[in-house]
Amino acid sequence: MDDSEEKGSENSRRTFLKGISAVPFTALAAGWNLAGTPATLPVPARKDQAAEKTKPSNDKKFVAIQIGARSFVDEGVDKCLDTLQEKGAVNVLMPTVFTYGRGLAGRQVPGQPLPDHGVQEYDEVHGGSYTKLHPEFYANSVIKDFRAPELGEFDILADVTPRAKAKGMQVYCLFEEAYNTRLIPNFEKIAEVDVYGRIGGSTCHNNPEARLFLTSMVKDWLTNNDLDGMMWESERQGPLNNTLGAHFGRIGRSRSINCFCTHCLRKGKETGINVERAREGYLALDRWVESSLGSARPNDGTFVSLWGLFLEYPELLAWQRLWFRSQEEMYGLLYGTAKEANPKAQVGWHIMHLVTMSPFYRAEQDYARLAHFADFIKPCPYNNCAGPRFAQYIRNVQSIVFRDFTPEEVLELHYKLLGNEGEPNLDKLPTTGLSAGYVARETRRTVDDVQGAIPIYPGIDIDIPTGLNEKRTQPSDVKAAVLAAFKAGAPGVVLSRKYAEMKLTNLAGAGDALRETSA
Ligand SMILES: [Zn+2]
Repeated sequence: MDDSEEKGSENSRRTFLKGISAVPFTALAAGWNLAGTPATLPVPARKDQAAEKTKPSNDKKFVAIQIGARSFVDEGVDKCLDTLQEKGAVNVLMPTVFTYGRGLAGRQVPGQPLPDHGVQEYDEVHGGSYTKLHPEFYANSVIKDFRAPELGEFDILADVTPRAKAKGMQVYCLFEEAYNTRLIPNFEKIAEVDVYGRIGGSTCHNNPEARLFLTSMVKDWLTNNDLDGMMWESERQGPLNNTLGAHFGRIGRSRSINCFCTHCLRKGKETGINVERAREGYLALDRWVESSLGSARPNDGTFVSLWGLFLEYPELLAWQRLWFRSQEEMYGLLYGTAKEANPKAQVGWHIMHLVTMSPFYRAEQDYARLAHFADFIKPCPYNNCAGPRFAQYIRNVQSIVFRDFTPEEVLELHYKLLGNEGEPNLDKLPTTGLSAGYVARETRRTVDDVQGAIPIYPGIDIDIPTGLNEKRTQPSDVKAAVLAAFKAGAPGVVLSRKYAEMKLTNLAGAGDALRETSA
């Protein structure tokens, strides 16, 4: 990072703090141009106000569940809601309103055992909007046609919200960045572009059309439905971490060295980054990863050669920073849009599971900063599926960044870096998962970071898919995780990732914890 970038950053930080509450919602909603000011998030000052609003009355815990439209169609809306209340003591519904992914929509993932409820067959997920589109909200959007077809006219907001409310439940709509580029006409107009010029699988946070599309949906949902809140899942971590393979997916060279679209190049330039050097840096880093994966230890060692690249191309870090600051801007934009449509709506962000595994990603997810444009945060200490996921993460980073160490040493290093000492070794990790103590530690860390400004609702892992011979959720795991979250200072939890893959016996573990807490 050169000097001008440093100064720009400090100015931006001051402007950010000053700028809070200075910009009217209408400016945000109109797609106000934020280019070149990555940290100047024009969001309203509402911390104290929000904390006041969301303070649970009579110590009642916030018990939310993520649920897709398929479950309501399969099991019937009222029956489904009754089951959630009875088994899980659920009082907040988080219906998935937009996704093209299986994590939040459809039935059980094929290959996984079907749970003890719902239709006992696997299904196809097309995806899109699971609520009716009101065309006037998309008049200026390049994306207009994205209603999910597989459930007919069923509307997860209009058909569910009034009935949930009648049963005393709150409703927070849920959506995520899971797109099917083949099924969305004009997707290329909102897409990210990688360092090789290829169109990617997600949107670019700096693309004005992408911003308009997302804000149009938020306006539509919050204007046309009596919602209590909204949560968005932006499960991406930018070009640097992607290139370095710092994730728990399949190991290999990244296809997601994003974003180098014209909007990002212009913004990078305006921010004082040498964009050509950034591009060259990422091409060099990609070549370095390829040679690391395929060859023996370099003469100077892997870590030293990687550090040499950072010294040669400081733009690698600058471009990564541009990415996650742009993601924060998107949070700010959606926050303002939602508040304009419904000032009482509670708006929050799901922070992906990786935040508990990767020190690189954790360093970017500054909960204290996020609290400026969130009414709540959902960190994801998913302790059961963390077993196989974290083991894979360790294998991935060991095979690229940390080749100077053995996998077991890399795991120990990460336990120390992230404050999770004492958790299982690499042999046992995939089958035992992580403890409820890990749920407590991440919860406490988040609560401490935001200093009580907003509530923290950790995600609780109930049957998030793992291999059949790997750690599988048990009722006692769910109960222990929920109790650990409460004890660590969370006023609520979000049962994750979706009802359709949860066993009722495991969901009941949450209900048991709640009954024990209120007893
Ligand atoms: Zn871009």
